[in-house]
Amino acid sequence: MSEQASVIVIGAGIVGTAIARTLQREGRAVTLIDSGEPGRATSFGNAGFIAIDHVLPLARPSTLRRVPQMLMDRDGPLTLHPASLPSLVPWMARFALAAYSQAEVKKGVDSFGVLTAEANIAWKAEIQASGLGELFKTRGALYVYESEASFAAGEEERALQKAKGTVFEIVDGKRARELAPGLSERIVRGVHYSHGMHTIDPYRVVATLAERFVADGGPLLRSRVRGFGRDGRRVTSVETTDRSLPAEAVVIAAGRASGELTRLLGFNAPLVAERGYHVMLAPDNVRFDLPVSPAERGFFITPMAEGLRLAGTVELAAPHQPPSWHRADLLVRHLKDVFPGVGGGELSRWIGERPTLPDFRPAIGRAPRLANVYCGYGHQHVGLTLATATGRLIARQMAGEELPEPLRACDPGRFG
Ligand SMILES: Cc1cc2nc3c(=O)[nH]c(=O)nc-3n(C[C@H](O)[C@H](O)[C@H](O)COP(=O)(O)OP(=O)(O)OC[C@H]3O[C@@H](n4cnc5c(N)ncnc54)[C@H](O)[C@@H]3O)c2cc1C
Repeated sequence: MSEQASVIVIGAGIVGTAIARTLQREGRAVTLIDSGEPGRATSFGNAGFIAIDHVLPLARPSTLRRVPQMLMDRDGPLTLHPASLPSLVPWMARFALAAYSQAEVKKGVDSFGVLTAEANIAWKAEIQASGLGELFKTRGALYVYESEASFAAGEEERALQKAKGTVFEIVDGKRARELAPGLSERIVRGVHYSHGMHTIDPYRVVATLAERFVADGGPLLRSRVRGFGRDGRRVTSVETTDRSLPAEAVVIAAGRASGELTRLLGFNAPLVAERGYHVMLAPDNVRFDLPVSPAERGFFITPMAEGLRLAGTVELAAPHQPPSWHRADLLVRHLKDVFPGVGGGELSRWIGERPTLPDFRPAIGRAPRLANVYCGYGHQHVGLTLATATGRLIARQMAGEELPEPLRACDPGRFG
């Protein structure tokens, strides 16, 4: 008997597993496939924050103004992997165009308004449906500032958050130190998002979703996708290194590698690796239980199940370049400035590749010129935040619904 066709989700990171779970609950036959173990790629090591406060995409004039500094300062929050520069130029040109265009910035703001509102609902539903309660905490989040000038620079984003109804309180340095004991006297301001939620183990979240998917009858295959069978506008099969799988529909959720698959299907996903690092420290003297982000330094300090995680900063790089481990050392130096005396010996360190499109908007929805291919990639700094929302939106589109108008800005066909 021939194998039954199913919806094949390619990629078992947080985005792919969340999509697979949602489609499975809708009653579809779903197959989840990954060349590795679920949750071992970028979704393994993030800062764990559900960033529904993220309403102003990074492709905007203020980010662009920092590019010269980024090229000069190898220890800044944004840097470039020097050997990758030639291959990054086309991406950077597209980024500059998107960041300079008022129309593009507005598309980013409007689409993130819809996505973060959906994320809020979608995570609560998924936590309940997949029994993830023990992995999440709602303790709020605290952004801290070392100068009034850098606090003032966040005003544009706070105004948007306010308009959207995001709950936050502006606090002085003293109150910030009460919320996160151990913070240095150099902190002069803070913004406290009291409703903020984080996970204490991002890897376990993906692993648990994958386990639940299998327990509910979903096949999870370990194999590398390397091609597709086609019949006109329809993809009829997914070809892996060791088998051919009949496909009713396909979802591309392969993180930074998604562009290699879209190319085979005739459309572009100009993704770069926006690399970030984490360092896990023994949780010595940690007397706070919410994520804290020193805003000027571009990283998060998150108390997690296995210790204190320092995660973040950006290093633009071509794929498969050797890590720049001094970026991880930098996180530890930052911690010592911001939380002197907090954190013990190093437990582990990690590098991950945020999958980032030049306009800093994800690709969500039906692929161009194809009847049964859907996309969920390019989630850059907020893949954990937007994963479950992406699953719900794709499920709705598969069921024949139109996506909300602002999400046209996330159309996977916008790069040709
Ligand atoms: C330092 C750092 C901190 C971060 N902090 C946060 C945070 O606090 N909050 C937040 O929301 N986000 C955060 N992020 C971003 C978030 O981690 C990413 O956006 C997210 O993990 C991307 O998930 P993904 O599923 O798209 O990709 P991945 O996790 O990379 O998964 C893609 C999967 O596809 C598989 N794959 C690829 N090609 C193929 C193929 N041909 N065949 C089969 N399988 C294939 C890979 O093996 C992989 O398992 C952070 C990122 C970094 C680096």
